[in-house]
Amino acid sequence: MSRVVGPGSTIGVLGVGKLGRMLAVSARQMGYRIAVFGGDRDSPAGQVSDLVWTGAFDDQDKLLEFAQACDVVTYEFENIPSDAAAAIDQQAALCPGVQLLQTAQNRFAEKTALSSIGLPTAGFRMVSSSEELASARADFGGHVILKANTDGYDGKGQWSVAPTTDVESLWNEAGLNDGIVEERIDFDFEFSIVAGRYADGTTVFFDPLLNHHANHILDVSVSAAPQVTESIANDAVEMARAVLEHFDVVGVLCIELFLANSGRLVVNEIAPRPHNSGHLTIEAYHCSQFELQLRAICGLPSVPLVRRAPAAAMANLLGQHIPDAWGGDNLSALKSPGSNLHLYGKPESRINRKMGHITITGDDPATVEREVRLAREALLQP
Ligand code: ATP
Ligand code: MG
Repeated sequence: MSRVVGPGSTIGVLGVGKLGRMLAVSARQMGYRIAVFGGDRDSPAGQVSDLVWTGAFDDQDKLLEFAQACDVVTYEFENIPSDAAAAIDQQAALCPGVQLLQTAQNRFAEKTALSSIGLPTAGFRMVSSSEELASARADFGGHVILKANTDGYDGKGQWSVAPTTDVESLWNEAGLNDGIVEERIDFDFEFSIVAGRYADGTTVFFDPLLNHHANHILDVSVSAAPQVTESIANDAVEMARAVLEHFDVVGVLCIELFLANSGRLVVNEIAPRPHNSGHLTIEAYHCSQFELQLRAICGLPSVPLVRRAPAAAMANLLGQHIPDAWGGDNLSALKSPGSNLHLYGKPESRINRKMGHITITGDDPATVEREVRLAREALLQP
């Protein structure tokens, strides 16, 4: 029997962003206390938490003090120094796992681990000079992507290296000591699987999410999109299961995949936590990705992931989608009974900053996708 961390206990979250906020809302509904680390009270998660610890992620003493105040600790932010993560784990179990966290922080380690368990990835190689970059480009088909090995998100720290790109000036501009070069995959579409595993080994999987990006940032996700056929979904679920089991995960993770033009499935990356593409599970399922994380890390009963609606779509709201003032027609998005507006309480809106999202549930994936895009456009109506 695994340990139960019951309602009334304190759940620690490393990070104070939107994912921590949505986990906190779910946890508070069930009577848990939430302590967040790494920002102030007026942060997306700080606003809805019981205890807020300011402090730096490299302040190991403070992190340990924080861990002592918690019954279980999870993270909504991957870039926690690995010795700090290990120290926290000694104090209060760090879910979904230190080894998973350390691997997912480092693209090379991540792709190496995926390959070692037989999962298909784009060809990849570490490079530390423009000459090595040029030779990797030649070996990987003439068009590659250079990525910073750590700290990247929303496409930051990535450079497309086309056959005609001047490799030397790109390398100098990137300013990396070393980086990972990936074969560029020509794909039909991108999708993700959000999955969870409980301490007793039970695994559960949300239906695949079809993901559309704009400017390298997730734009719209659709659940129950017909492009992701049952056979593709089954293969992807087995890949997610392999990752969950390999890392002995207790909690939630997401795997991002490409369906390559060749028909081959390719795993892009792992997020060791709830994922932006899974936000629509708040409305589309009886148990959301955040409740799943809570159930898994607290040793609560496992439940099958049962849908509330046959289809759902989510559109991210970046700074440029948010009106200067609320009122009038820009709230028409809320007229539809299936629409839900989420804002993360970020004090300052900036271009390309994730400020919130809209989810629309309904019967047909194409219809909800169209509606959610229209709802987002309506926010900017004068
Ligand atoms: P995020 O935080 O949004 O997940 P990230 O910065 O960690 O992004 P990736 O997921 O690796 O970066 O890449 C962002 C996007 O760039 C992918 O969703 C995909 O659209 C494109 N991309 C990344 N790697 C490849 C590749 N090898 N081939 C083709 N496209 C790619
Ligand atoms: Mg990604």
